[in-house]
Amino acid sequence: MSTPHLSSDPFAAAERRSPWQATMPPMPAVLPHPLPDTADVAVVGGGFTGLSAARELARGGASVVLVDAETLGWGASTRNGGMVLSGHGHHLGLDGLTKKYGRDLALALQAESVASVDHVARLGETEGIDADMRREGHLELAYTPADARDLEEISGQLAATGSSARFVPRRELRAEIGTDEYFGGLLVPNDGGLHPGKLTVGLAHRAIEAGVDVHERTRAVAIRPQRDGRVVVETSRGALIARHVVVGTNGYTDGAAPGLRRRLVPISSYVIATDVLDPGLLASVSPRGRMFFDTKSFLYYWRTTADGRVLFGGRASFWPMSDEKAAAVLYRGMTTIHPQLAGVAIRYLWSGKVAFTYDRMAHAGRSGEIYYATGCCGNGVALFPYMGTRIARWMSGGPAPAIAKIGFPLVPAPYEGRTWFLPFVGEWYRLKDRRKARDRAAVLAEAGPAGGGPAA
Ligand SMILES: Cc1cc2nc3c(=O)[nH]c(=O)nc-3n(C[C@H](O)[C@H](O)[C@H](O)COP(=O)(O)OP(=O)(O)OC[C@H]3O[C@@H](n4cnc5c(N)ncnc54)[C@H](O)[C@@H]3O)c2cc1C
Repeated sequence: MSTPHLSSDPFAAAERRSPWQATMPPMPAVLPHPLPDTADVAVVGGGFTGLSAARELARGGASVVLVDAETLGWGASTRNGGMVLSGHGHHLGLDGLTKKYGRDLALALQAESVASVDHVARLGETEGIDADMRREGHLELAYTPADARDLEEISGQLAATGSSARFVPRRELRAEIGTDEYFGGLLVPNDGGLHPGKLTVGLAHRAIEAGVDVHERTRAVAIRPQRDGRVVVETSRGALIARHVVVGTNGYTDGAAPGLRRRLVPISSYVIATDVLDPGLLASVSPRGRMFFDTKSFLYYWRTTADGRVLFGGRASFWPMSDEKAAAVLYRGMTTIHPQLAGVAIRYLWSGKVAFTYDRMAHAGRSGEIYYATGCCGNGVALFPYMGTRIARWMSGGPAPAIAKIGFPLVPAPYEGRTWFLPFVGEWYRLKDRRKARDRAAVLAEAGPAGGGPAA
C-alpha cells in the first residue's frame, strides 16, 4: 500500500468546509433584486425542504418567492454525511412506533420513510440530478450486546413487513466493515449514500427553472397570519404577503417561527473527511460501501465517498466546541474503530446544525396557512426532499403526509431559543454511553482477543 496520505499533523492541510461544498457544481447565480409585495407562496429556507417545496409549487402554477437568510444550500443540506436512510425513530423500531401511534400509522410512517429513499434515488431519472447516488445499504452497528439484541428484534419487525432489512451477527461483520468493535448490525440494503452538494445544486436549478423567485441574504424576521387568511412574512428587506408559507429552516430555525423553535433543539454535528485514500485502504474500512452509524447516544456515523475518502462524523459534545477540537475527538474515534487509518491526513473539517425534537421524530404539519417539515433526527437527506414535495402537494389539495398525523411535542423546559439545558442533557447521555462502555468492556474481556464469546 502506498502511504502518501500519512501525516504527522493530520489537520495541517484541512479546509474548513465540507468536501461537498468544495466539489459541487456552482449554484445558479441569483442577483439581488426587489422583493415583490405579494406571492401565492412564500418559502423560508433554501435547503432540501424549501427548494423541493418551492419547485413543486411553481410547477403547479403558483407564484413562489423563496427567501434564505444566507445563500441557497448554506445550511445542513450541503454539510451533511450524504447518508440516505430510511426509518423514523431508529431507537423505537416498528413495535415502538406501533405502541406510540397505532399499527396503521406506524406502518404508514415506515412506508413513507422507504418512499423518501426511493424518491431521492429516482431524482437522477425524474429530475436529471446526478448526485452520485449509490444504493449500497446502511448498517447500524451495535455498541453493546444488548443493543445487538434490540437490533435483531427490530430486523425481525421490519422483515415481517416485507423489508429486506436483516440482522448481521458479530461473526459475519468482518464481511461488512473493517473492525471488530461492534456486536452485530442491522443491515438495510436498499438505503445508500449520495453527494448532497450535487443534490442541493440540482434542486436549486430545478426550482429556478420552474419559476421560483429566489432572494438570498433575506432573513424572515416574523411570520404573521392576517385576518384575511393571508400571511405576512416580514423580512430584512421588506414585507411580503402570501396566501401560504412553507418553513424549511430545520436546525437554523430562529425567532421568525417561535412555535417551531419551542419544539426544536438545534445541535451541532461535526464531521471530518480524509484525503483521497488508496482503494485497498478504503476497502479495508468498508468492503461494500455501506453507510455506518452506531447505537451510542454520542453516536458516530461514517462512510466512504464516491471520490475515495472516509467521512467520519458525530456529535462530539453538547457543550459549545470549536470545529477543530471536535475534529480531534472524531479523529480519535475514527482511528480507534479503524486503526488502519492512523496517521491519514484530514482534508476537510466542518460542522452544521441538526434539529432535535423531544420525541426524536421528524415532523411535518401546518398551522393555518403556515406549513413546515422539520426536526430531522438523522434522516433528512432522504426525508426532506420528499417532504418538501409532499407538503407542496398537500397545500395543493393532495393528502397530508403520515408524519403530519403525529403530535409535535414542546421541548419540556422554559426555552425561547437559548439551549441552556443542553450541557445537562449531554451529561445524561454521556453517562448512558459510559454505562454502555462498561458493559462492553466486560463482555470483550470475557470474549478474549479473538473477539468470540457471548455476542458472537
Ligand atoms: C453535519 C451534519 C451531518 C448530517 N448527516 C446526515 C446524513 O448523513 N443523513 C441524513 O439523512 N441527514 C443528515 N443530516 C441532516 C440533514 O442534513 C438535514 O436534515 C437537512 O439538510 C435539512 O434540510 P432543510 O432544507 O430542512 O434545512 P437546511 O438545509 O439546514 O436549510 C435551512 C435554511 O434555512 C435558512 N434560514 C434559517 N432561518 C431563516 C430565516 N429566518 N429566514 C430565511 N432563511 C432562514 C438557513 O440560512 C438555511 O439555508 C446531517 C446534518 C448535519 C448538520
